[in-house]
Amino acid sequence: MVKIDLKLLKKESEKEIEKAGSIELLNEVSKKYLGKKGKLTLVLRSLAGLSQNERKKVGTEANELKIFLKEKIDKELEKMNLVGSVNESEWIDITIPGKKMHSGHLHPLTLTKRKVEEIFQSMGFSVVEGPDMENEWYNFDALNIPKDHPARDVWDTFYLRNKLLLRTHTSPVQVRYMEKNNPPLRIIVPGNVFRHEATDASHEFQLFQIEGLMVDKNISVANLKAIVGEFFRRFFEKDIKFRLRPDYFPFTEPSFDIAINCFACQSKGCSVCKGTGWLEVAGAGMVHPNVFKNSKLIPKDWQGWAFGFGLERLAMIKYKINDIRLFRSGDLRFLNQF
Ligand SMILES: [Zn+2]
Repeated sequence: MVKIDLKLLKKESEKEIEKAGSIELLNEVSKKYLGKKGKLTLVLRSLAGLSQNERKKVGTEANELKIFLKEKIDKELEKMNLVGSVNESEWIDITIPGKKMHSGHLHPLTLTKRKVEEIFQSMGFSVVEGPDMENEWYNFDALNIPKDHPARDVWDTFYLRNKLLLRTHTSPVQVRYMEKNNPPLRIIVPGNVFRHEATDASHEFQLFQIEGLMVDKNISVANLKAIVGEFFRRFFEKDIKFRLRPDYFPFTEPSFDIAINCFACQSKGCSVCKGTGWLEVAGAGMVHPNVFKNSKLIPKDWQGWAFGFGLERLAMIKYKINDIRLFRSGDLRFLNQF
């Protein structure tokens, strides 16, 4: 065994600690004496080979030196404003610029949906939801579309093995809601709807619709125009010209399509409005007596109107989006613009 003079070791190490001046060098000194293969560690390991008396004497001295050196190194570190023995992995440079946290944001359809809900809620409408999987009765028959009705072709959908189907519109919720709630009532029904059709820039197989329903004793088309007009003003944040034209839906009579004047060309006619100057945004009409009947209400007691807006269509007009498929594409170049 190499005999090591502990007093010399103490002197030598003390000097080196005082001279170190940086954390890196202090760590090196610490390693040199106290590390796994450090000088003092070797002394402690070699104790087994000594006689009992010597072991006691050298052991005590070496242990005292070990404590002494640790304390001295800690003190030096403290002097450098660093408490305790900091090693490299714990060392934090607070002057390095931080990494920016990536936070998500709401999808444009969610933004649009929330805006629509907020406007209608402020006009006294409740937000109601219904199932995406619907049965034929609620999706068709109750809405005055019997099995052999040609309108079923227009709303072709996905039929499921459990004898249900994916609803083609949010209108079934009209019946579901009126079965359980007596008028007067005003609701909107936001939700997904599905169509079995090919997709292109203006067609998707999954859409988001907002249904509206208002029922009372003396509800007329004038109420529909007033509510829809107020909605447009607040949604598009400007005065909007809109028109109602006769249309056909089995569950309303009379029925209308609602169109607003084209933003892109100020109604002069352009490619956005296909030269017409108008953009169709909704279907609407007065609730058909058969729908009241199927909802267990007496038709002659009540009047009401209903509408169905396509949420994508509203968002496309508001944000000038030219392809409906972008909404569900998951393309961040598109989504990060909102
Ligand atoms: Zn236009």
